[in-house]
This record gives sequence, structure tokens and C-alpha cells, in this order.
Amino acid sequence: KVGHGEKVTQKRNVGGVGKVIAIASGKGGVGKSTVAVNLALSLKKMNKKVGLLDADIYGPSLPMLLKKRGEKPRANDKKKIIPLDSYGLKLMSFGLFVNEDEPVIWRGPMLGGVLNQFLFDVDWGQLDYLIIDLPPGTGDVQLSMAQTINVDGAVIVSTPQDVALLDATKGLKMFNQVKTPVLGMVENMSSFVCHKCGEEHFVFGKEGVKSKVEELKTKYLGKIPLDIEIRKGSDEGKP
Ligand code: ADP
Repeated sequence: KVGHGEKVTQKRNVGGVGKVIAIASGKGGVGKSTVAVNLALSLKKMNKKVGLLDADIYGPSLPMLLKKRGEKPRANDKKKIIPLDSYGLKLMSFGLFVNEDEPVIWRGPMLGGVLNQFLFDVDWGQLDYLIIDLPPGTGDVQLSMAQTINVDGAVIVSTPQDVALLDATKGLKMFNQVKTPVLGMVENMSSFVCHKCGEEHFVFGKEGVKSKVEELKTKYLGKIPLDIEIRKGSDEGKP
């Protein structure tokens, strides 16, 4: 069920931003942030102007993935926060404002407040795409986002594993309920190809997402293998 008692106001557009794409997952650790970063960079390669908003407030990982740990954003003379630039992407993350090893102990309304600030008090400038890296699950941030702005599409990332798919299904149904269009699902960690023997291993099960999209009447956007280079790149901030 979609929450209750929330004041639903008119949805706003984020000034200067073309399309807003949200990257979601049911569970953490399935590669949502990795997909968000690499999607943003791929759009950048197509000469698009791209911003990346890390809305994973309890576990912001984009500063690490984009080699911006420890950097502090500044404000401009109009009191707007200037996003950081990383690999030509504009980046804003809650992780830039808190100590990495301190837990964020916040309640729902505060999460909505910080999301609003990141959407409307950041000087995003002219963007073709704003990619939002959501927290896992179906919580306050997702709901605030869906009620505050017009999201052009959500992409749901899942591994082929049943437990991940179950939660991804809930995510998809939440977006349907709040009338946010779902673009489709990405199967991450789809399989592992052994560098020695060349054999393909289906570590998290085979084609779980592919079978799920039919059932959920959504699109299969593609698959990404489990690859040690992806993990290394993330840890080194070199996506
Ligand atoms: P989430 O945002 O869903 O919590 P992340 O994108 O942070 O997940 O990924 C979790 C971890 O798994 C990271 O260390 C990342 O580098 C690694 N990872 C993600 N996708 C892959 C992949 N296809 N192959 C290897 N490692 C991956």
C-alpha cells in the first residue's frame, strides 16, 4: 500500500533538466549504484549533459565510485550548492556532507527534506539527463521522489537470484502504484565466465530476470556479467 497522511502537492519539474531517470533495486548490493554510474557515463559518451544524484542516503556510495571521497561541495552566490564534477558528470551525494563511517539516523520527513534540497537547491544547470540512484527497497525516499517530481522512467536492477527478484518485484509494483513509468529491468551479475576454463557459471541462477519480466509485463533491458574488473573499478573510483 502507498503510505497515508502525506500531503500531496503539485509535482514540480527540476529546472533545466531534460529527463529524470531513477535507478532502483529491491535489495542492496545487487549493483544499483554501479549501473547508475555506468549508465550516466554511457550517456555522457553520447555527448549528453548528465547529472547524478545519489539519493541512497543511508548508504551513499557514489563519492567512492566516482573518486570524490572527502571532497566538500561549495555554494554559489545565489546560495545554491554547486555539484562536483567527476568524469564530466555533475555529482551530488549526501555522502559528501557526512562522515563516511557515521550512521545516518533520520526519519522519513527529514529524508524527504534532503531529497528536495538535492533536487531544487543544487545548481544542476542545463542537463539532458538527471540520473537518481535510489536507496534499495520501497521506502520514504522513493515515495517522496514520486510525489515531488515527474520521473520519466525507473530502471530496476536485480540479480537473477529469487530473493533479489522478490524484492525487485515489490519495487516495480510500488512504481506502478505511484504512477512512475518503469523502463524495465537489468540483470546484473548474470553469470561469471571463468578466465581459466572459459566456462560460464550461473552463480545466482540462470535468467531469473528474463523470466520475471514476462510475468511482470515489463521490459528486459539487458544483462551484465559478474566481472572482477567491475568490482576493482568501483573500489578504485574508476568506473
Ligand atoms: P547497490 O547499489 O545495489 O548496493 P553496488 O553497485 O554498490 O550495489 O554494488 C555492490 C558491490 O558489487 C560493489 O562492490 C560493486 O563493485 C560490485 N559489483 C556490482 N556489479 C558487479 C558486477 N557486475 N561484477 C562484479 N562486481 C560487481
